[in-house]
Amino acid sequence: MDAKNCHCSSGKEIATCCARFIDHDENPANPEELMRARFVAYATEKVDFILKTEMLKRPNTKPNLERACKTTSWEQLRVVNSSENGLNGIVNFEARFSRRGQTFIMRERATYKKFGEMWYYIGGRSSYIKSQNPRK
Ligand SMILES: [Zn+2]
Repeated sequence: MDAKNCHCSSGKEIATCCARFIDHDENPANPEELMRARFVAYATEKVDFILKTEMLKRPNTKPNLERACKTTSWEQLRVVNSSENGLNGIVNFEARFSRRGQTFIMRERATYKKFGEMWYYIGGRSSYIKSQNPRK
C-alpha cells in the first residue's frame, strides 16, 4: 500500500481524505465520513479525535482508549452501506484488525446523530470473528 493512501481503505490520499477531519477540524459531511475518520483515528492513536466525536451512554476514557489503540492494529476497512435520515445515520462496516498475533473481522452497525453542525457516534452493535483467510 502506498504510504500516502488513507488508512480507511478509500484509495484516496490521506490529505484529501480523513486528515481533513482529524488534523484540520473540518466537519465530516455525513456519517460515513465520520466513521472513516474515526477508524483512521483508532488506527493512528488519535484518541482526542475519538473522544470528541462520540456521545456514549458510558463514555470512553482516554487511558482506556490509549491502551486499546496500542494493543490493536487496525488494518482494513470495508464500508458495507451507509444511510442518513435527517439527524440520524447508520453505517454498516467490516474492519480487519490484529491483536496479540491473531487477526479478526469486526462487523458493526454503528449509529450516529447530528447535533448542530456535527455528527457524533452514539453507539453500535458489533460482533467479532477470527479471520481464517486474511486478505492481503
Ligand atoms: Zn480516509
